[in-house]
Amino acid sequence: MQNTIILKESREKSLLRHHPWVFSKALENEDLKLDRGTIVTVVSHEGAFLGYGVYSPKSQIRVRMLSFDENTKINDELIDSRIKNACDLRKNLIARGNDGVRLVSSEGDFLPGLIVDKYNEFIVISISSSCMEIFYDVICNTFKELYPEASLYERSDTKSRLKEGLSERCGVIFGKEPPEVIYVKENNEIYMPVEIMHGHKTGAYLDQRQSRLHAKSLSKNARVLNCFSYTGGFGLWALKGGAKSVDNIDVSSLALNAAKTGVAFNHLDPGRCHFIKEDVFAFLRKQVEAGIKYDLVILDPPKFAENASNLKRACRGYQDINRLGLKLVAKGGRLLTFSCSGLVDSNLFQKIIADAALEAGVEASVITTLRQDDDHVVSLPCPETFYLKGLEVAVR
Ligand code: SAH
Repeated sequence: MQNTIILKESREKSLLRHHPWVFSKALENEDLKLDRGTIVTVVSHEGAFLGYGVYSPKSQIRVRMLSFDENTKINDELIDSRIKNACDLRKNLIARGNDGVRLVSSEGDFLPGLIVDKYNEFIVISISSSCMEIFYDVICNTFKELYPEASLYERSDTKSRLKEGLSERCGVIFGKEPPEVIYVKENNEIYMPVEIMHGHKTGAYLDQRQSRLHAKSLSKNARVLNCFSYTGGFGLWALKGGAKSVDNIDVSSLALNAAKTGVAFNHLDPGRCHFIKEDVFAFLRKQVEAGIKYDLVILDPPKFAENASNLKRACRGYQDINRLGLKLVAKGGRLLTFSCSGLVDSNLFQKIIADAALEAGVEASVITTLRQDDDHVVSLPCPETFYLKGLEVAVR
């Protein structure tokens, strides 16, 4: 059969559960001479139909699935309707005063490898898979139809793109070039600095929207430490919530400069915040040695666990910053701590924080759990897409 992928014996279980990835190890023949971007039919070892997907010869994820229904046609209309359906789902969030929203969330919206964020009148797309690369034209056309007044910018410069053998591609697709920094309304109250062209990812971390609002509620008269601050999001909300002082720590001067402009743009008091360009590990150690205390410590590190082989080291990293962070929290204060590693699930994360508290010698308990905001939709059969978890921990 042409363009058919046959799985090894008993390797069909995850596809029967509609998990969207087929790993190279599951294939009967790993060295198929199929071009990148070929639409394939995946069948079990016995030849039973499992689904349709797109082949990527260089990636560990050899096939990304687009449908498990034999009658579905894999074509432009399918992608167009999935994009429109995804945008429709975000209407409530926009109506609640958010001008920065994730319109398409990859596997969560049945579009594996496509991220689309909208910041005011700028739509930013990021394509990280061969599966979505073949639909480039329809993706662009659909957004032109949906948002004719907007500008479309591309930030396809992710590591996973390189793993697929695709080169980086960034730039204006249609409309205007975005300014270096724009300010985007969040939860009807704060304007977040976003750097579309040179910032991380597509320009901002929209996934922390609800948790930033939560930080506001913990900030009245608080001394706040905002670690891995990026463009200062948590710090802006803390100031809005009445924080006495906010220390923002990050290694990126670009991000810290944008953070400073965010304070001015929101008419918040620059005298109550500090921007410190330093490695968080070193900064935390210094503060512990100096006996400094804060009422609220926020730890929102980058993804420490990139793959299963560095998971153990990543856990050690999380434990270290949380041990130090907990030592800095005054009695009665809070630690807001996060992990955005898909490989660290909620149970493992809680265990890491429990071990960190033991090592720090503090009594602490979980007040509430936090997670990626709703527009970062989770694929039911793919728990890896529930990647961002957080805990509000009280030091007793
Ligand atoms: N909390 C932010 C997002 C954080 S992203 C928000 O709400 O928008 C992670 C940040 O950690 C990035 O800005 C990156 O520059 C910074 N970073 C990574 N490693 C670091 C380190 N060792 N020390 C300080 N900052 C670091």
